Amino acid sequence: MRFDVPADFVEIHAAVGELCARFPAEYWRALEPDGYPEEFVAALTENGWLAALIPEEFGGAGLGVAAASMILETINASGCNSGACHAQMYTMGSVLRHGSAEQKAEYLPKIASGELRLQAFGVTEPTAGSDTTSIQTTAKRVGDGYVIRGQKIWTSRALHSDLMLLLARTTPTDQVEKKTDGLSMFLLDMRTAGDRLEIRPIQTMMNHATTEVFFDDVEVPATALVGEEGKGFRYILDGMNVERILIAAECIGDGRWFVEKAARYASERVVFGRPIGMNQGVQFPLARAHAAIEAADLVRHKAAWLFDEGKPCGAEANMAKFLASEASWAAANACLDAHGGYGFAAEYDVERKFRETRLYSIAPVSNNLVLAYIGQHVLGMPRSY
Ligand SMILES: Cc1cc2nc3c(=O)[nH]c(=O)nc-3n(C[C@H](O)[C@H](O)[C@H](O)COP(=O)(O)OP(=O)(O)OC[C@H]3O[C@@H](n4cnc5c(N)ncnc54)[C@H](O)[C@@H]3O)c2cc1C
Repeated sequence: MRFDVPADFVEIHAAVGELCARFPAEYWRALEPDGYPEEFVAALTENGWLAALIPEEFGGAGLGVAAASMILETINASGCNSGACHAQMYTMGSVLRHGSAEQKAEYLPKIASGELRLQAFGVTEPTAGSDTTSIQTTAKRVGDGYVIRGQKIWTSRALHSDLMLLLARTTPTDQVEKKTDGLSMFLLDMRTAGDRLEIRPIQTMMNHATTEVFFDDVEVPATALVGEEGKGFRYILDGMNVERILIAAECIGDGRWFVEKAARYASERVVFGRPIGMNQGVQFPLARAHAAIEAADLVRHKAAWLFDEGKPCGAEANMAKFLASEASWAAANACLDAHGGYGFAAEYDVERKFRETRLYSIAPVSNNLVLAYIGQHVLGMPRSY
């Protein structure tokens, strides 16, 4: 076992950190409550960071997940927010793994160059969040294509995306053997949907550009189908490990930001004639959070390494997401406590990052469902749902 950090990770960290320094806290504060960081996402795209996982033959960097996760970790550790653009990294993987040669040739180079944005991932519905196979949005075969009807919710960045990776039911549940069958994945070009597609923003406690999307018989050509009809759920599962590893990296970045900021503040803030960091009640929660972040980081790197080696990594990817989101939340609380009342002031940025990192215990998958996965698939206990 070796634990030395590869040189390319150090280079990625330095280069992305330099880019992030151009988008300081004032930039993010000014965007609150719901402004989209256009310039930030454009800068990441121009510098090729969002195309990290796209193979070189399609204009990307052809990096592995471990290296790509360094990009997102660095963004969050710099005080910026990957939530504005992270989806492109994992949605694109579905096109790469399951798309036709024509789809890859048509879309991947344009996504890599920034000509097309694939930031929207439409899975969750009002009556189907954790229980994905209960989705009710349908895609009916009509003539040469499909007609999509239904509603998605929490489709983040849909107003800042040209394409949406969409999961819809193509065969009704009473006509399939298992509920996991009969779901299909589509690469929907939202620019051609006209007024049959309606996107409404949802105001949330953090700036995440999330929306609900209504499909009123949206017509799509058969060429929009990704992979085989009816296998969409399997394709979604396929992409989940990458999503979990990348989210874990973002949480680790957040956690590092909280601990570093709080440790600095606690060393400077003097109360009762001495720095508050001298008190174990302030120091230990930060030390504990740091230890938890380091532990989660090891599992995240193991998961990413396994994925990049083409080995099974479901257990590690799930554990990494769970441990990292718990660690970043513990770090957020310790950081807020260390700042006392000032932690609540927008100008300290703690409350903003606090709101941002809280999401990852729930989305893209809730930690209860992650624990259910570990209980069932790793420990062999009965399925709990
Ligand atoms: C800001 C934001 C952005 C999002 N972006 C996207 C996006 O871009 N695309 C997308 O498709 N989705 C997105 N989501 C949706 C997200 O993936 C879901 O919110 C998440 O999967 C949970 O689903 P739910 O909200 O319907 O909760 P529910 O499924 O209703 O669950 C509610 C609570 O009950 C718990 N629970 C449910 N069943 C069980 C069980 N069997 N055992 C134990 N606990 C259980 C859950 O853990 C959860 O805490 C986003 C959500 C948010 C808030």
